[in-house]
This record gives sequence, structure tokens and C-alpha cells, in this order.
Amino acid sequence: MTVKKTLAELVAIDSVSARSNLMIADYLAERCEAIGLTVKRLHYTDANGVEKTNLIALAGAAFSDNTAVELALVGHTDTVPYDPNWTDALRLTEREGKLFGRGACDTKAFIAASLTAIESIAFDTLQRPVALIFTADEEIGLIGAKRLAEIRAIHSRYAIVGEPTSLRPMRAGKGYCLAEVTIKGREGHSAYPSLGSSAVFGAARLIAAVEKIATRLETEQHAAFDPAYTTLNVGLVHGGTAKNVIPGECRFTLEWRPIPGQDPKRLLNLLEEAIDVEKRGDSAFICEVDAARADEGFETSSRSSLVTLLEDLTGNVSGTVAFGTEAAQLAELGAEAVVLGPGNIRVAHRTGEFVPVAELDTCVNILRQAIERLCCGAR
Ligand SMILES: [Zn+2]
Repeated sequence: MTVKKTLAELVAIDSVSARSNLMIADYLAERCEAIGLTVKRLHYTDANGVEKTNLIALAGAAFSDNTAVELALVGHTDTVPYDPNWTDALRLTEREGKLFGRGACDTKAFIAASLTAIESIAFDTLQRPVALIFTADEEIGLIGAKRLAEIRAIHSRYAIVGEPTSLRPMRAGKGYCLAEVTIKGREGHSAYPSLGSSAVFGAARLIAAVEKIATRLETEQHAAFDPAYTTLNVGLVHGGTAKNVIPGECRFTLEWRPIPGQDPKRLLNLLEEAIDVEKRGDSAFICEVDAARADEGFETSSRSSLVTLLEDLTGNVSGTVAFGTEAAQLAELGAEAVVLGPGNIRVAHRTGEFVPVAELDTCVNILRQAIERLCCGAR
């Protein structure tokens, strides 16, 4: 079975996050069991009642209460949705050295490469165990990986988390946080402002304060990133009902990406301070903050053996990513984690996403050598 054929079979299985991933998990379990890996499925039901599973496959160890491995190769089985007009979304198509298909880049190419790499290892040479971890629901909030971290499903010393990085090892990533902020006012006829209290004016003052928080956070720098600080965005504002009604409610969505090492709640604390200032100026100011998400970033030392090994094997110096990955959950599971995979994040999630054939093939070699260097032979 070639890596290309494996990728074609993976792409053919529709695994958009909204669907169950049991089919693709069964396929992966079968492939793993066929070469003697021990497989465990960790089922759960998602928020919409759909059956999902995280799959762990072990080589060189058995499952126990404290399953521990030297190296984990981690890939998410789900993909973002695809445009129905992209008729070849589930049919891997090769053109000019590129393989097109939904998930071809993000992240089925890495999964195909990890399967192919493990299939090339003679298990009797393994001195330390290795795991393949295939997760669910990465694209909708790292939900599968969070469950694995929560139940302490496995301990791994090192982890390579598959995401399209054009085969550059990424040793740190920012976190991802969201909060919904609701300002309550009092409706009234706009001809008589004193009858009401404008939630939009209140929100506008608070948003101006949020902009100042953004400037303040720029002074807390992490040199490995570009931009080197926690960025924030007010991406949505909804308020008011009509041109001549004093708005009774205004909501805005605040998103921020904290640098690793910074508490994701740092911004929430600054926001609370700003709200207190508003309240002191206007006793009628009512504001609720619903912190919907607070995912921490991750950082693995540039001196980590995994980082230097992958720099060696890829010929690329390590970098950092500004998008969320499952590396943070692998770090929670004890791992020095690095994000690495074939394909470019800039074409991921697009109609016509693709992975270059050459990068796919190179990735197989990198992963095979990583397994050999970390798990086979004496240390
Ligand atoms: Zn991905």
C-alpha cells in the first residue's frame, strides 16, 4: 500500500466534523491491527448527539492504567466542510505534483504518512513504545484532544502533532480564547434619551477600553512569535432594534490568542477592570461576560531532543504557529510536542486544498526516522 493510495482512501471517507468519524476510525483501526498494533477506541457523544471516537494504536506496549509511550504521532480525523460544487472533494486527484481533495492537506496527508511510516518499522526493533493517536472534532475546538487530556488517556514523552507546516517543525503556538460580552441598557423613544439607557453607547465605551487593553498587551512580548504578543479582535457587534429606539442590548464577540506562558485569563482580568471603571462612571452600566473558550498555547524548548531531531531530519529551523493545534493537549499529557506536517496551512480549509506529492513522501521518511531514532536502538 503506497502512501498516496492510503491518502486516497482516507479522502474518500467523508469525515466532516458534523458527521460521525466512526467510519474513518474503523478504517484506521483495521490498518493498525493488520500490522499488529493494539487499538483502543475512546467513544463519546458530541453536543449534537453524534457518535465520535478518539483512536489510540500502540506498538511495543499494552494498554494499562498508566499507558506511557516514548513518541506519539497525532492526527485529527475530521475535516472542515466542503462546497458541494467541489465534485472531486472526496476523490483524490493528482495534478502537477499536487494531490487535491478535502483533508488532503489538513490533515489526512499526515495520517497517511504516519501509517506508512509505522508500517515500515520492524516492531522487534522497538526498544520504547510508540503510539498513533487519531482524534475527532479538532476543527470545531480541539474537542477530541481535550477529552484525551481530561481522562489522561496516555502519557507521551514526545509528540509530533500533524498539521500542515510545509514540513517545518513548529515548537510553540499561541492559545485561542473567546468571550461573548453583553451590555444591557434600557429601551425608550430616541426623542427622549433620558427615558432610556443606550447599550450601544455603553458597548462603544467598553470597546474603546478593549482597544487600550490590546495596546497594553503589546508590551508583553514573546520574541518567537510574529506578532510577538497576544493579539485580540472584536469580530462581531450586534446591538439595537431600530433607528428610533434607544438600544436595550448590545453584544460583541471578543477573540484573543495568548502567547504561551501568559494565563489565558489575563485578558479577562483586564476586561473586568475596564468594566469596573465603566460601572464607577455609570451605576446603571450592566455587563455580562461569557468566557466561552480559554485554550492555552504551548511551547517546547528549542533545546528539546525532539525539536533538534526534527530540525535535523527536515533541514528546517523550528518556528511557531499562530493557529490553534492539539499540541497544547499533548503537552498536558506530558509531551514535548512539535507541530509538523506536509502541505501549507494557507491552502488548508479552501476549496481545492492540496498536498504536494514530494512533501507527502518526505514526511513518511521523516516520521520513520523519528520513530527509529527515538524508539529503536539504545539511547
Ligand atoms: Zn488541521
